[in-house]
Amino acid sequence: MIRTRVVRTERLSKHFVTVTLGGAGLADFAFLGRDQFVRLFLPRAGQDRLHMPADADKRWVGQLHAMPPERQPHVRSYSVRRFDAEALEMDIEFVDHGDAGPASAWAAGAVPGDEAGLLADGVYYLPPEGADWHLLVGDESAVPALLSILEQAPADLRGQAYLEVPCADDARPVAAPAGVDVHWLARTDPSAVPGRLALETVRAAELPEGRPYCFVAGENTLPTELRRALVRRHGVPKDDIAFVGYWRHGRAAMD
Ligand SMILES: Cc1cc2nc3c(=O)[nH]c(=O)nc-3n(C[C@H](O)[C@H](O)[C@H](O)COP(=O)(O)OP(=O)(O)OC[C@H]3O[C@@H](n4cnc5c(N)ncnc54)[C@H](O)[C@@H]3O)c2cc1C
Repeated sequence: MIRTRVVRTERLSKHFVTVTLGGAGLADFAFLGRDQFVRLFLPRAGQDRLHMPADADKRWVGQLHAMPPERQPHVRSYSVRRFDAEALEMDIEFVDHGDAGPASAWAAGAVPGDEAGLLADGVYYLPPEGADWHLLVGDESAVPALLSILEQAPADLRGQAYLEVPCADDARPVAAPAGVDVHWLARTDPSAVPGRLALETVRAAELPEGRPYCFVAGENTLPTELRRALVRRHGVPKDDIAFVGYWRHGRAAMD
């Protein structure tokens, strides 16, 4: 369990804000790169300070639920966008999807000195040896993970990346290998459910020949439905698809 404080924030675009966390405790953070994520512990509105479970092993969940309601933090999963082991800083890129989400609201209003706790977690992007090309697909919640994967990818990687965002202002330059085609998919209908545009686009796309490794993340329907299409229509073995439901439309994450 690592305690940090907000060092600075940066509004990247209409729907993305980067929060940089810092603190001596980050010296203990085991950085794995790629799409690594952390559990973030955030104080609830009205709490004067952050209370966190004590243990970093499996007991933290029980400890969290044993805390009196007035001390319990919010817990949400977020990808590590950047980790600087020398400066002891970590960037998290939050989707600003409005005040309905405590994490979204916290990030949009964060100021230097605000407290946040974190617990290191793992990676889902585990490409096997021998894949001919990579298919990377996500909605805005997976953009930070996809950008990290692309920036850290070997220079000879070949692939197709589809990144869906709420509006054209949210697209940005990507440091991807030359052999990866990056497609930004900007929604034009503000009431559309995130992920549907990417799902329909990739379903209709002509995919390259050869054995792919696929990583699909975002609102739950996108990875679930796209995996089905990849297996049924394209004959991709299930083991060659990492599919991760990052959130569910209309449902808050479980604290
Ligand atoms: C492994 C992993 C890595 C993730 N990495 C990131 C990341 O780097 N950046 C990031 O922004 N998110 C990331 N997410 C998704 C993030 O954890 C969820 O979006 C989370 O629910 C946000 O919490 P909240 O408190 O803002 O909203 P909640 O309290 O969970 O939800 C409140 C309401 O907002 C809706 N909602 C939740 N998320 C979104 C969204 N993105 N867009 C529109 N509506 C939403 C819910 O359906 C609900 O109706 C990741 C999730 C996982 C599992």
